[in-house]
Amino acid sequence: MADSVQCVVVGAGVVGLAIARALALQGRDVLVLEAEDAIGTQTSARSSEVIHAGLYYPAGSLKARLCVQGRTMLYDYCAQRGVPHRRCGKLVVATSEQQTDALQAVAERAQANGVRGLHWLDGAAARRLEPALACHAALVSPDTGIIDSHALMLALQADLERAGGTVVLRTQVQTVARVAGALRVRTHDGTAIDTRLLVNAAGLNAVDLARRIEGLPAACVPVAFHAKGSYFSCAVRVPFSRLIYPLPESAGLGVHLTLDLAGQARFGPDVQWVDDPGDLQVQAERALGFYGEVRRYWPELPDGALQPGYAGMRPKISGPAEPAADFLIQGPREHGVPGLVNLFGIESPGLTSSLAVGAHVAGLPGL
Ligand SMILES: Cc1cc2nc3c(=O)[nH]c(=O)nc-3n(C[C@H](O)[C@H](O)[C@H](O)COP(=O)(O)OP(=O)(O)OC[C@H]3O[C@@H](n4cnc5c(N)ncnc54)[C@H](O)[C@@H]3O)c2cc1C
Repeated sequence: MADSVQCVVVGAGVVGLAIARALALQGRDVLVLEAEDAIGTQTSARSSEVIHAGLYYPAGSLKARLCVQGRTMLYDYCAQRGVPHRRCGKLVVATSEQQTDALQAVAERAQANGVRGLHWLDGAAARRLEPALACHAALVSPDTGIIDSHALMLALQADLERAGGTVVLRTQVQTVARVAGALRVRTHDGTAIDTRLLVNAAGLNAVDLARRIEGLPAACVPVAFHAKGSYFSCAVRVPFSRLIYPLPESAGLGVHLTLDLAGQARFGPDVQWVDDPGDLQVQAERALGFYGEVRRYWPELPDGALQPGYAGMRPKISGPAEPAADFLIQGPREHGVPGLVNLFGIESPGLTSSLAVGAHVAGLPGL
C-alpha cells in the first residue's frame, strides 16, 4: 500500500521551497521531501546572495523573464515578511577602453529585458561614487541588492506550513514509477507515496533523479555539467559600498566583489569545470588568479589579503565549449508524463528568480 498526497516536491532548496509554497497557496496538499537533515544546505547555501536586476540574460529567455519578475516579487516579499535585505546597487565596470563596447552590450541587453533605472558613468564619475575604483566606464544598476537567503528560505517554509504543507527531512527520493493515475515515489527506506503532481527540484541531483523516473523519454533529460565557483574573503576592510562586477565571462559573471548584510566582503566565484559535484574544497593557490582579476578594478588590494572562503557548484546543463543554457523547466507538454515537472540547470539567477519560478510552475497548464 502506498500513502498518497496531491503534490510532492523533491528538494528543499530555495527553488523547491518557493514552488511548494506557491502550490500550497493554491490550496493543494504539498509534501516536500529533502534528503539532507535541514533545508537549504546545498547550492542554496553557497551563493553570492545577490538579488540580480536581470542585466545579462538573452531577451525572452526564462532566465531574463523570471529574474526580472522574480526580483520585483522578492523585494516585495522581503518587505512584507521582514526578510533582511538591502538594495545596495552595483557597478558593472569596463576596466579599459577596449571593454566599452562589451559594457554597452550589457546595457542594451538589460534594456531589452525591461531593466529600468540603469545609468552610465565615465571613470571620473564612477570614482566619485566609489573612490577606490579603477575603471574606464561603469554601468550603475540601482536595483541590484543583497539578501539573507537562509531567512528567505525559513519564511518560505513558514508560509508553506501555514498553508498546510509539510517538509520532511532525511528523506531521499530514489525512484519514481508510473501507476494508474499517479506517480509512485519510492524513498530510501522503501516508503511509497503516490502523487498526482511531482516536481523534481533536486538541484545538482535533478538530472540523476530524472533518469530514475519511469517513462520519461531519455531525450528529455539533459547532460549534467558542474562548474565550481570558489570565493575568497578579504582580511582587510574593503573601501566599497556597492557591489562591483567586471564584465561577464562565458560561464560566470567574472570574479566580482559582493558584500553580505554584515558588510563582510567576498570575491568570486570563479569558474572551474569539475567532474565531481561534491568537490567543494577551495584550493588556496587559486588566490593567485584572483589577485590579478580583482586588481583590474581595485589596484590597491594588498598582498596577502585574500583568504580561502567557500565554494558553490553550478548545476550546468551546457558544457565549457557551449553557449550558456537557459533554465529548463519541463512539464507534461514537453515530456508527455502526466503530473511531472522537472527543473534542470537552475543556476544563477535562481535565488533571485525563486518566487517567479514558483508562480511559473504552479501555473503550468495541465497540472
Ligand atoms: C557559486 C554560486 C553563486 C550563486 N549566486 C547567486 C546569486 O548571487 N543570486 C542568484 O539569484 N542566484 C545565485 N546562484 C544560483 C542559486 O544559488 C541557485 O539557483 C539556487 O540556490 C538553486 O536552488 P535549488 O532549490 O534549485 O537547488 P538546491 O539548493 O541545490 O536544492 C536542491 C535540494 O534537493 C535536495 N535533493 C537532491 N536530491 C534529492 C533526492 N533524491 N531526494 C530528496 N532531496 C534531494 C538537496 O539535498 C537540496 O537540498 C548561485 C549559484 C552558485 C553555484
